[in-house]
Amino acid sequence: MRLVLLGPPGAGKGTQSARLVEKLAIPQLSTGDMLRAAVAAGSPIGLKAKALMDAGQLVPDDVVIGIIDQRIDEPDCANGFILDGFPRTVAQAEALSALLARKGQTVDAVVELVVDETALVDRMRKRVAETLAAGKPVRADDNPESFKTRLDAYRAQTAPVSEHYAQRGELKQVDGMMAIDEVTTAINRSIGH
Ligand code: ADP
Repeated sequence: MRLVLLGPPGAGKGTQSARLVEKLAIPQLSTGDMLRAAVAAGSPIGLKAKALMDAGQLVPDDVVIGIIDQRIDEPDCANGFILDGFPRTVAQAEALSALLARKGQTVDAVVELVVDETALVDRMRKRVAETLAAGKPVRADDNPESFKTRLDAYRAQTAPVSEHYAQRGELKQVDGMMAIDEVTTAINRSIGH
């Protein structure tokens, strides 16, 4: 199953992806995680992405499209994958369709976690508090100012991606404000599992 998970920052995509990884035995491909790894490694992509990410802005489409194009050729993606944080622009969604078509593949399901925007800042603050309590490093973009930019980027650039898939009749929406287990159940149902 090739699955796209959509939703704003703090919607719970990471949490739900982890559960889908267990259930479906396919990898989660998070462009955010991959970019953070590139930043940590100091690779050319990381150097290009760091300032944009820290500020909460999107990195250029060609960078993430290239990363995903290569990553899904890895053997662990043979039975599918969960895309978390990609596509984030309509141009990325179109590039995804094109690159999958070249590989003889298609997206099987697109699920959007729909959440009340007012809850998102609180969720981010909670995540920061939990991360600090666990003695782990806090993401550079998990601060109120960058988070606001991330939400703005979501509204302007990523919300149209949901519309893009909705127009094709491919979008399934799940209420992301329910308890975590209920969201999991609703996602599973929406993808027929
Ligand atoms: P969140 O969804 O919680 O905001 P992510 O970990 O998915 O966080 O992404 C963090 C940052 O990485 C984004 O704000 C952006 O700078 C960059 N990024 C991740 N995925 C993409 C993408 N598909 N296109 C452009 N930038 C991306």
